[in-house]
Amino acid sequence: MSSIRVIKSTNLKAKFEDASKLPFGSIFTDHMLTMKYNLQDKWHDMIIEPYKSFELDPASMVLHYGQAIFEGMKSYIDSDGKIRLFRPDENFKRMNFSASRMKIPQIDVNLALEGLYKLLKIEKDWIPDAPGTSLYVRPTIIATDPFLGVRASETYLFFIILCPVGPYYAEGYNPISIYVEDKYVRAIRGGTGDVKAAGNYAASILAGYNAKMKGFTQVLWLDGIERKYCEEVGSMNIFFVFDNEIVTPALSGSILSGITRKSIIQLACDMGKNVVERPISIDEIYDRNAKGDLKEIFGTGTATVVSPVGEMSWHGDVIEINDKKTGEITLALYNKLTGIQTGSVKDKYGWSVVVG
Ligand SMILES: *Cc1c(COP(=O)(O)O)cnc(C)c1O
Repeated sequence: MSSIRVIKSTNLKAKFEDASKLPFGSIFTDHMLTMKYNLQDKWHDMIIEPYKSFELDPASMVLHYGQAIFEGMKSYIDSDGKIRLFRPDENFKRMNFSASRMKIPQIDVNLALEGLYKLLKIEKDWIPDAPGTSLYVRPTIIATDPFLGVRASETYLFFIILCPVGPYYAEGYNPISIYVEDKYVRAIRGGTGDVKAAGNYAASILAGYNAKMKGFTQVLWLDGIERKYCEEVGSMNIFFVFDNEIVTPALSGSILSGITRKSIIQLACDMGKNVVERPISIDEIYDRNAKGDLKEIFGTGTATVVSPVGEMSWHGDVIEINDKKTGEITLALYNKLTGIQTGSVKDKYGWSVVVG
């Protein structure tokens, strides 16, 4: 057995009154989990302690060179009052994949899961149960050596914070509008687009801001070399529903391998759909839309689960998808997946883990 120390907060925060109006990402619970790494002790000293600010040396390497990775998952309360997580082992395995790309030491997946389960049991009262709400889980690793110079840090901090959340988009479950970005790119093969490295998001902020100023919700990223093939939408994977197939970009080395993506591919196959992973160009989208063959577009990711796309703009050419309404297949997949996540729909794959 591991020894996870617990230090309980004696000064509990007031909880948000109306869970259905919860914002996304700005309220944090009473406790957090931390664990340290150094060369001698490796990962050690996992503690659940009151949520508080860190004290960091201004020379901490993460602040200068961005050696940092994170994960995102959601926990729910099911109708039996039990805590559930969706495929949490996948998140910690992906965190190790990100860690190897960023030269960060591997974590013990089982220990991370044990720590998270313990933290969630302590914070159970923070998990909202109103429809569309959940407790967002954010594991992170940062480089903490106080050192100026580009190399791998020799000390790290792993932490998990928790955040009760409502719907990701202020517009709620309504189709979003996307701007096809042709000036900036998110990632190229050989870069870090296929891992959850903090710097990827820093590099995407300007394009996201510009799109917002033009009235769009998110950016659709094209591949970094030819600027021709669709890759992702904001920080979601993307799916195109045609008459005879559902296409999602193949994992090319610059696309993040989403756990929601993988799950949706499986569920769509189970619904009898022909799901194809391949490169798909923006020209093909516009051509097939002109022929009336493009039925629905949606993004997938933990934060939004399945997010319908109602409008798309490329070089000033604006198209509307499914009359800017949520499509039938998008909605069916959303209902199926959120049903599995919250424990109300049969889960034949054992994806939804009952924590206690
Ligand atoms: C996290 C993320 C996704 C979605 O991954 P999920 O595992 O489904 O949450 C997609 N694209 C990017 C760039 C991401 O960071």
